[in-house]
Amino acid sequence: MGRWEAGMVHFVGAGSGAPDLITLRGDALLRRADVVIWAGSLVNPRLLEVCRDDCEIFDSATMTLEEVLDRMRAAEERGLEVVRLHTGDPCMYGAIQEQMDALDKMGIAYDVVPGVSSFCGAAAALRTELTAPGISQTVTLTRLAGRTPMPEGEDMAALASRGGTMVIFLSAGHLDRLQQELLAAGRDADEPAAIVYKATWPDEKVMRCTVGTLAQTGTDNAVRSTALVVVGRVLAGDVPRSCLYDPSFETAFRPAHQGRG
Ligand code: SAH
Repeated sequence: MGRWEAGMVHFVGAGSGAPDLITLRGDALLRRADVVIWAGSLVNPRLLEVCRDDCEIFDSATMTLEEVLDRMRAAEERGLEVVRLHTGDPCMYGAIQEQMDALDKMGIAYDVVPGVSSFCGAAAALRTELTAPGISQTVTLTRLAGRTPMPEGEDMAALASRGGTMVIFLSAGHLDRLQQELLAAGRDADEPAAIVYKATWPDEKVMRCTVGTLAQTGTDNAVRSTALVVVGRVLAGDVPRSCLYDPSFETAFRPAHQGRG
């Protein structure tokens, strides 16, 4: 079966922090891996406790793309199985595409194992649903421009003015600018917002605020990194009930009942 081939690379989502939030499949791959290349700056080191004693472990925080690829190629030549462990889910800001494209060129097999992204960890920490009937049915996952510029049409002004729930990655060090850009895009100063620091880690911290107090809240709590900003009226709670579970709503699995129970 392809998934268990020797000499292949598995991109594995480590989850948002708590070591028991990795998937069963990711955990099984970590336990059998010959080589692990992990994102040491964001992945909980406790995840590595399950690795074999003779597993070779490399921290990608200190490596370039070329060095990561060299390790993968060397492992493949020896028929070794590699786990490339990324924080959260690797599909968000994971820089895995450039690795997969290079592996394609080298003819090295790989697969991807999803993980719990930090935006899901943050929603859990906030005990909030990011979508709510009549309030928001759209979640925008984005970031402020940093050294990586935003492509045209994806600037905060354009995205924030469309409304809906927003989850903003990689921007905790620029909360002043974020607040200004959200307000300039027409979001209300009193719209609920939150900063979630290290969601699902033991030192997780949830800071509820408003768009108008984002920057001050970040300053007061000395937040600079490993945090997400969530913005949206869903954070106010007390949302209208769903159609799906309304007694008068018929689904393929349940006939409609008369009136509300
Ligand atoms: N692939 C990751 C995101 C990597 S980008 C994922 O799916 O979550 C790194 C950014 O993610 C950080 O700057 C921060 O904004 C966010 N982040 C990662 N882990 C986090 C956590 N546990 N709590 C809050 N934010 C987190």
